[in-house]
Amino acid sequence: MATAFLCNRKVSGFAVLNFMSSPVMHDRWGVPPWKIDFDPPKLSLPDSVDIAIVGGGFSGLSAAAWLRLISPQTSVGVFEASHIGAGASGRTGGLALAESAAGDLPGLGDVLAGTMRILQELKVDCDLQLPGAWEIARGDTANQSLNAPPRRSPIDWHDSGALRVVSEVPGGTIDAGKMVSGLGRAARRLGAKIFEHQPVNKIEWNPQPTLQFTGGNVRAKKVLIATSALSMELSDLAGRAQPRLTLALSTAPLSEGELSQLGLAERKPFYTVDLPYLWGRLCSDNSLIFGAGLVNPPASGDLREIDIDVQDVSRMFASLELRVRGLHAVLAAARFTHRWAGPISFREGWSPAFAHHPTSADGFVLGAYAGHGVVLSVYLGAWAAEAIVGRRQLPEWGWIDPVRKG
Ligand SMILES: Cc1cc2nc3c(=O)[nH]c(=O)nc-3n(C[C@H](O)[C@H](O)[C@H](O)COP(=O)(O)OP(=O)(O)OC[C@H]3O[C@@H](n4cnc5c(N)ncnc54)[C@H](O)[C@@H]3O)c2cc1C
Repeated sequence: MATAFLCNRKVSGFAVLNFMSSPVMHDRWGVPPWKIDFDPPKLSLPDSVDIAIVGGGFSGLSAAAWLRLISPQTSVGVFEASHIGAGASGRTGGLALAESAAGDLPGLGDVLAGTMRILQELKVDCDLQLPGAWEIARGDTANQSLNAPPRRSPIDWHDSGALRVVSEVPGGTIDAGKMVSGLGRAARRLGAKIFEHQPVNKIEWNPQPTLQFTGGNVRAKKVLIATSALSMELSDLAGRAQPRLTLALSTAPLSEGELSQLGLAERKPFYTVDLPYLWGRLCSDNSLIFGAGLVNPPASGDLREIDIDVQDVSRMFASLELRVRGLHAVLAAARFTHRWAGPISFREGWSPAFAHHPTSADGFVLGAYAGHGVVLSVYLGAWAAEAIVGRRQLPEWGWIDPVRKG
């Protein structure tokens, strides 16, 4: 998915949201088809925890559950601004991909196999299927990309040229609602405390890390910031990673016959390796999800201010629907049931940020997966837990440059 989200669009006319007074981002970013069926019990803020985790997405929940598994004596609090999965994790496309957006990285290991082991250990059932994933491309790219004898392409679509399968890579899909719920349940079952609707406003690092909330302060020995493309002033990734909102939509369920005509009977997800970018997958109810497009942040840099019903974003959705309808005769009259957006962020070189916080050795930052974070976030969440308790080193490729660019 390294070429994911390369196309860029300038968007104006944002409706402004005050995060503190409006923690619910769903309406503004549309409603995804995933169902999160775990509601952590409501808890009041503690005075202190051993480890504070900021952000209740795949990264934060995986880290919380793994921390409690490997170090049951350590108290762990997950502080989530909205509800678990409110960021990218509950809005993702759910393609399970190997490696990272930057490809394999030194010491990364087998991300798919490692994540399967973590999910098994945490007893998370998220309909993980790994039939492989198709890389698809148009004419020239398709002709050049295979030295091997030409393969029969199950996909024969039209999108700025004939779109065909050019190769198959390891991968598959998950159900994002089940993964958020499963990780949340695992974290809770293992003894982590999840505090929803508790946005962290600020962190004082000295003399001891202290998280500041509207309702009080929480002291921690160590803090993991897993807010991805949001609250980048907390992670200190502002200016070091580029936040974007990316778009997705889903169709009403299709019949098995229609899926065969589309070439999707094998139920493999797909993404283009040339531009314009497009990715997609089938869901268990035979609906199809497609995604493409990037929305720039407003001047404040805060993606929460973007409303997808605002003119320019809504035009991007209309154009994506038009592209999907034009792919194949079966999709010409497709009915779209959901339109939604979610946050992602990119670093130069495409490797995730996975390092100490630039201000404090007691702080850890994990994120910036560049649209390639479904399994990587769970995998690195567990790695972060091990690093926090001193059982594992942080990788060199996750290093955050203390000197901010631009
Ligand atoms: C539309 C879309 C499609 C995608 N498709 C794919 C795909 O098919 N395959 C793939 O590999 N990757 C995909 N991705 C990327 C993948 O979903 C993400 O990389 C992954 O979910 C990141 O998880 P996370 O836990 O790091 O971040 P998030 O899930 O974004 O979690 C961050 C959390 O932090 C919370 N937060 C923010 N600020 C604060 C604060 N101040 N205090 C407390 N909490 C705060 C947020 O509310 C949020 O819940 C997609 C992303 C999007 C948006």
